[in-house]
Amino acid sequence: MPESTASALIEKHPAGSTLVGLIEGNGRFVAGEPRYRRDITAARGAAPDQRPGAAVFTCIDSRVTAESVFDCDFGQLLVVRTAGHVPDRAAVGSLEFAAAELGIGLVVVLGHERCGAIGAAVRAVEADTHDPRSDYLVEQLWQPASQALAEAGPEREVASHAMRLQVRRTVADLSRRTSLEDVLVVGAVYDLDTGVVSLVEEN
Ligand SMILES: [Zn+2]
Repeated sequence: MPESTASALIEKHPAGSTLVGLIEGNGRFVAGEPRYRRDITAARGAAPDQRPGAAVFTCIDSRVTAESVFDCDFGQLLVVRTAGHVPDRAAVGSLEFAAAELGIGLVVVLGHERCGAIGAAVRAVEADTHDPRSDYLVEQLWQPASQALAEAGPEREVASHAMRLQVRRTVADLSRRTSLEDVLVVGAVYDLDTGVVSLVEEN
């Protein structure tokens, strides 16, 4: 993540330091030097109560494990997942609950490269085979997939562009909700190959 972006967020919002903490955790993960083992001792230690400072809203992909990626222990991170991080009612309601009842100040919308859900939506738009009665995810991801096909250059970049558009859409969706008005919502992308999380600019 560009440092200037990070410092701007830190200065603007009280949850900026929480974001810095997650970025530092990602640095430990990438360096192969995690602080937390997340073993049974840690699980028992965290059992009486939870005080997560942040939520990550990410894809269901089995390669994207938020607690590892940000090197967080039991009780530190609340994770909400839907395929393609589609902000459906239950996902948004979960984040609203986290803000109202658990006091989280930060939501990171975390997309990732080679997303199967977004790739399927891009292929459906290309083939124009969408049936809204039977494919909820394609319907929900149709807009970013269409926009990416219209804007992106080489074919291999289309899905990556669509994923970033979907991150921005999700951030915009969450940011305009009064239920989350005190929460810092940022978009980010996880690189499957390097393990690095990078912030996504708003435009
Ligand atoms: Zn995915």
